[in-house]
Amino acid sequence: MQVINQKKVIDALVSSFKKEEKSIGFVPTMGALHDGHLSLVKIALAQCEVVVVSIFVNPTQFDKLEDLEKYPRSIDNDLALLKKCSQEIIVFTPSASEVYGGSVYTETFHFGSLEMYMEGKHRTGHFDGVASVLQLLFDIVKPDKAFFGEKDFQQLQIVKKLVNLLDLNIEIVGCPIAREPNGLAMSSRNMRLTPAERSQAKLIYETLQKVKEYFGTKSVLQISNWAIDQFLNNQEIKLEYFEIVDEETLKSVTTFEKGKNYRAFVAAYIREVRLIDNIPLN
Ligand code: AMP
Repeated sequence: MQVINQKKVIDALVSSFKKEEKSIGFVPTMGALHDGHLSLVKIALAQCEVVVVSIFVNPTQFDKLEDLEKYPRSIDNDLALLKKCSQEIIVFTPSASEVYGGSVYTETFHFGSLEMYMEGKHRTGHFDGVASVLQLLFDIVKPDKAFFGEKDFQQLQIVKKLVNLLDLNIEIVGCPIAREPNGLAMSSRNMRLTPAERSQAKLIYETLQKVKEYFGTKSVLQISNWAIDQFLNNQEIKLEYFEIVDEETLKSVTTFEKGKNYRAFVAAYIREVRLIDNIPLN
């Protein structure tokens, strides 16, 4: 396994892969890897001849400095996990100046309704930060395919739009959400929960599963009121939002229409740890 922190070294490798017509798969991460990340890496390994995994805690996508500072970092463990997956992986671990050049900056993008609700509304500037770093990383790695988790479904839709806006020839592959045995979506943030809190956090997925069950039998309002009540009745978990949205536009809906796909989303806090999850309804 090669671990590379200089973009010129990646450049040289990528040029040689392109000459050999090898397909390049890319899995961007912020490290603190868990089985959710590794599930993306395994899908990439199955679909591409070369796989590049980046580990870079991108400062521009954090709206709170405290969150950036508290973000878990575990590079030795990350490299050991990747090595176990495959010796062939190329790991890119750049510094901020290697990615951004002289100074870190954020570009402004226009993603329309995709960025207006949920994470876009509650984390100011988050998606501009994500898109800014991905634009740069895509330019360095030049992947044929890039792999993103449905755990961050809004991000996945934004990345598809980004590729479209920039006219990049990259296929964006959405990958299923990996979960703990109790249903909690795997996340680097789960490390900050006590065992008791991890157990309480299962309410999020339990609620989403029931919401999926109710889809088709109850109205949007009935389902939403029921879901919100589950959190109001719980002392430990503080709901930030519950939304049922049209999967394509990510706009929240008041009625269900035939022929459209819907998804339910939750963001909630346990203490100061923010957790997100979602489920397709049809
Ligand atoms: P992050 O390191 O949190 O930026 O995540 C890197 C990638 O891993 C993103 O595409 C995430 O959506 C994906 N990811 C994180 N957690 C999970 C999970 N539990 N299941 C599937 N993909 C995930």
